[in-house]
Amino acid sequence: MIIYRAVQTALLAGFFLKSGECLASNGSTALIGDEDMQTPFPEWLKEFTNITQWPGLDPPYIPLDYIDLTKVPEFERYQSGRCPNISREQCSFDCYNCVDVDDVTSCFKLSQTFDDGPTPATETLLENLRHRTTFFVLGINTVSFPHIYESVVERGHLVGTHTWSHAFLPSLSNEEIVAQIEWSIWAMNATGKHFPKYFRPPYGAIDNRVRAIVKQFGLTVVLWDHDTFDWKLITNDKLRTEEQIFKDIETWKSQRKGLILEHDGARRTVDLAIKINKLVGNDQLTVAECIGDTDYIERYD
Ligand SMILES: [Zn+2]
Repeated sequence: MIIYRAVQTALLAGFFLKSGECLASNGSTALIGDEDMQTPFPEWLKEFTNITQWPGLDPPYIPLDYIDLTKVPEFERYQSGRCPNISREQCSFDCYNCVDVDDVTSCFKLSQTFDDGPTPATETLLENLRHRTTFFVLGINTVSFPHIYESVVERGHLVGTHTWSHAFLPSLSNEEIVAQIEWSIWAMNATGKHFPKYFRPPYGAIDNRVRAIVKQFGLTVVLWDHDTFDWKLITNDKLRTEEQIFKDIETWKSQRKGLILEHDGARRTVDLAIKINKLVGNDQLTVAECIGDTDYIERYD
């Protein structure tokens, strides 16, 4: 039996963002599992980092020779929910829905996507899906629930990164952003034997400073054009009902295209996802299929 405890973090701060996408039944999406159940910390990572175990919520910055922080533009850092006088060049998605030409925001077939796993709730979703889909995972959850992560991959789903511990990236230093990305990638290297190609920022919080760092990893930014706001079902303040969400799904179905943002971080949103899946049907694509690209930058055997 997997024993896990919720880590109380500032994730709830994302609940009130305009395009916020955060969630959790227990106030958190980052879960730390029983250490015995974790992905073993690999020897190559010990040698490279001089660290012997997976980090906590604030992973240490490890310099990488292919990341040049002198090439990252100097834009003002900002906190969750606080949008300062951001210039057009900063191109913040969470503040102004600004997207870069390289960002993936939609799909020519209406398709679901799932953030914040893997968690025990993910298994229920897997049992109910009859087509390939896309999961954006947290590194800390990946190493905590490696068997669930492996099950996602074995079933042919596409896995992208969603940072190490669901950080609000525009508030972090360049080094802290690198740490959030590199540790999430190492979690996926060690657990799934692949190097991810796609990245979705927690809370949709991304500007051109964050983009510049993410691109140096070779990652493609994936956002969305249809937000279910499924996490509002969990806050229990009646901000959103299933009926409202189903009404939106019908509208999106009539448009026949788009990327739907959902979450597999909690049972409540997974139960909803299964209902949405029945409405949308099985003719869906992964993000890679949406843009006709490969699933991963690299696979290791
Ligand atoms: Zn998220």
